[in-house]
Amino acid sequence: KESNSTNDKLIEFRTEHLGKSLSLQYKIPLKMVRGSGQYLMDQNGKKYLDTVNNVAHVGHEHYAVVKAGQEQMALINTNTRYLHKNINTLAKELLKTLPKELSVLHFVNSGSEANELALRMAKAATGQRDIIASEYGYHGNTNACIDISSYKFDGKGGSGAPEHTHIFPLPDSFRGTYKGKNTATAYAQEVQNCIDRISKKGRGVAALILEPIISCGGQIELPQGFLEIAYQKTRAAGGVCISDEVQTGCGRMGKTFWGFQLHQVCPDIVTIGKPLGNGHPIAAVACTAEIAEKFANGMEYFNTFGGNPVSCAIATEVLQTVSREKLQENAFTVGEFLKSELRKLALRFPIIGDIRGEGLFLGIELVDAKLRPLSEQTAYLINRMKDHGILMSSDGPDNNVLKIKPPLVFSQQNAEELIACLEDILAEDPLKLSFK
Ligand code: PMP
Repeated sequence: KESNSTNDKLIEFRTEHLGKSLSLQYKIPLKMVRGSGQYLMDQNGKKYLDTVNNVAHVGHEHYAVVKAGQEQMALINTNTRYLHKNINTLAKELLKTLPKELSVLHFVNSGSEANELALRMAKAATGQRDIIASEYGYHGNTNACIDISSYKFDGKGGSGAPEHTHIFPLPDSFRGTYKGKNTATAYAQEVQNCIDRISKKGRGVAALILEPIISCGGQIELPQGFLEIAYQKTRAAGGVCISDEVQTGCGRMGKTFWGFQLHQVCPDIVTIGKPLGNGHPIAAVACTAEIAEKFANGMEYFNTFGGNPVSCAIATEVLQTVSREKLQENAFTVGEFLKSELRKLALRFPIIGDIRGEGLFLGIELVDAKLRPLSEQTAYLINRMKDHGILMSSDGPDNNVLKIKPPLVFSQQNAEELIACLEDILAEDPLKLSFK
């Protein structure tokens, strides 16, 4: 056991010597020392059920993944200017999951790098530089990624959309600009409005970039039919379509391996991040042969770490584990169970206004009777859940959407535990959580 004063020392050092815009979770931050499957253990040996970590995709410290990395690290790690079978094996494994149109891969080190490269590719392929993206979208921490991330530039410390970024309203059918069942056409028209604004300036569209479920927007599911029309409009204007699968990819959706497949469309570029390395920094960009051809304009693409044998061994094992342990199927079954139990809970506790998402990528939106966001209650719930040993997170413009995006080994029993705990806390009612 360690006393909290050891944490105070860590905090003190961080405050003085680590970046001032880094943040910590929880008022009294936790210090985690071990991970296993869907669980984390803090310095005092307390066990937490993790519903937050969508990076530890196949489970924290998965034995086969750790072993694959350790074994390759003991043999050789080099850059991609030498031949190595691991990069080919990973490419084959990844291509098996993608539509045949997406036949060329580049390996990078983070979701931000993947989107950065995707933007460069879109610009090279179209000769244009204007990007269309969703309100409250987040695509990474680099210059170009921040420039297309409304979640950042429209928030604290931001200064609005740059000249070449065009933002359409969050396609939220619950509390957004257009509400109800058939909002696809109305939101797609907003994409068309962006295209029209770009052409009025005498320019063309480079790309539309979107997540299939907009995570930072508050787990916003795209209305059915929206993506198909938005892709048609973007392509008609000469642009390419990028699906940011950094959070939604690799089986998390349950029904499908990739988020875009929920919408029966095929993007021109797919960016893959977080889950691919189960915590090790590897990410990827998949694109069509045509885009890859246009991007290879003579300038070498070199990436010191991207696609190295260790990262590739790890990512290959992650993909094989998803399939061997049937984790996509588990995401579907447990996700459906969670949604149906949450719907039952919503009947008793009207503060639960909306339940959405697919597989193990869900959102619970807390609102009052007039659909006003209940941010304070959301924060309260998250803190109380932590006291009960369950880690949760929130997001959305008003921070009133509880997110569920655990390692895919999250079981039916874990789901039952989560529901029982939520129910207990909602029933406590200190903050009028059961608002009617
Ligand atoms: N795209 C999306 C949708 C993300 O959620 C994130 C990270 N939260 C990124 C890109 C950036 O990935 P990374 O932090 O690995 O650079």
